[in-house]
Amino acid sequence: MSHPSPEQARPKSYREPLAPLLKAKAPWLSTTLGTWSADRTPYSMEQHLFVGPRSGGDYFRVGIFAGVHGDETAGIHAAVRFLLELERNPGLARGYELYVYPLCNPSGFELGTRFSRSGRDLNREFWTGSREPEVQLLERQIRTLRFDGFVSLHADDESAGLYAFALGAQVTQHVVEPALQAAEKVLPRNCDPTIDNFTSRNGLIRQGYPGMLCAAPETRPRPFEIVFETPHHADLEKQIEANLVFLRQTLDQYQQLQAVGQDL
Ligand SMILES: [Zn+2]
Repeated sequence: MSHPSPEQARPKSYREPLAPLLKAKAPWLSTTLGTWSADRTPYSMEQHLFVGPRSGGDYFRVGIFAGVHGDETAGIHAAVRFLLELERNPGLARGYELYVYPLCNPSGFELGTRFSRSGRDLNREFWTGSREPEVQLLERQIRTLRFDGFVSLHADDESAGLYAFALGAQVTQHVVEPALQAAEKVLPRNCDPTIDNFTSRNGLIRQGYPGMLCAAPETRPRPFEIVFETPHHADLEKQIEANLVFLRQTLDQYQQLQAVGQDL
């Protein structure tokens, strides 16, 4: 017979990892997009907007999404830490409006499950007419805000290394590859020819799958869409650090890519 440790026995609230963001003079704008309840437990969807310093050109609007799978905690902590980092170093977001959703599946987080409390994999529900409140709230934001780019943070319990899904040829080559190179200083890259049943090259999968969190189907031009995966069984701190390195590099490389494009 095993007894849960005090840490395991303590019920955890989805508000715990988000608590560092509830600061009086925070430089980001926090909005509750909506509330709902599941099994009589109340939940909410939180959005945090950080507007970086001007870069000269138009702002790029990027959505950063974490915790769509409730048990993948590294991305949640990384998204929160990234916002805290922006407070100290706003230049990381130069030229960007960053909309950060650190915990897209709060009920799954509390249960420690991939699925939400309703038993759904939310990352198979987008743009399918889903009735899941998490999906509906995010779809509404995605339609309204018309992001230039998406970065989703995930963890894969069957992968021994980092990899990414990336849509958009230029972004794949000029943004995701350098971002993976930077992140693999923290954790190894998964260079298997197939990952998660997808054809992969140097840890890059150049396709998506139905129901994933992404731009609305009618959106043209298509934004860049990146899903970054860390190996779930790796040290949590290293996964968080890999996420942070990947995020910083992605924003920096995309900004450079656009600057080059405008000179042509
Ligand atoms: Zn996931």
